[in-house]
Amino acid sequence: EFFVSELIERLELTLAGVLSTKNQTLVVEISGDFKLCADLILLEHLFLNLIQNASMYSSSDKNIYLKVEKYPDKISFSVRDEGIGIPESELERIFERFYRVDTNRSREQGGTGLGLSIVKHITKLHNGWIDVQSKLGEGSTFTINLPTK
Ligand code: ATP
Ligand code: MG
Repeated sequence: EFFVSELIERLELTLAGVLSTKNQTLVVEISGDFKLCADLILLEHLFLNLIQNASMYSSSDKNIYLKVEKYPDKISFSVRDEGIGIPESELERIFERFYRVDTNRSREQGGTGLGLSIVKHITKLHNGWIDVQSKLGEGSTFTINLPTK
């Protein structure tokens, strides 16, 4: 159990270097702090993966948006970027291990294709689910929904 603000502080600290080299800012939108019954280290890992993707697949100066919303039955975290986007036909495959969208752009960035499979795994461990919206050339939004029992 931890406060969401603690998770966000950790993310900001860890990501400061990566984001500043691309002159990107993590813009956080949250109304009030609250406690979360989840694994802090695993969730930090999850959001590091999502935000690093958002940064990597966006050009310099493009900000990244993290929105936290509390509902009666769930908490949702949306990570949004204004980057290269993902073709609709690839959306169902990106969570597979080692899968990478075959564009010059993502090949030259050189990841291993494991990040999103870890994201999916950690979400499942918390009985949550993921929604993805993306438009080629416009950007992507990954939403992690965690039920509050
Ligand atoms: P790793 O995370 O292991 O370093 P990776 O980033 O290539 O490598 P994933 O995080 O699993 O692997 O992402 C899989 C693929 O999905 C990426 O290679 C990229 O093509 C695409 N992708 C993921 N996030 C985004 C995003 N925010 N915008 C555009 N494409 C994305
Ligand atoms: Mg990645």
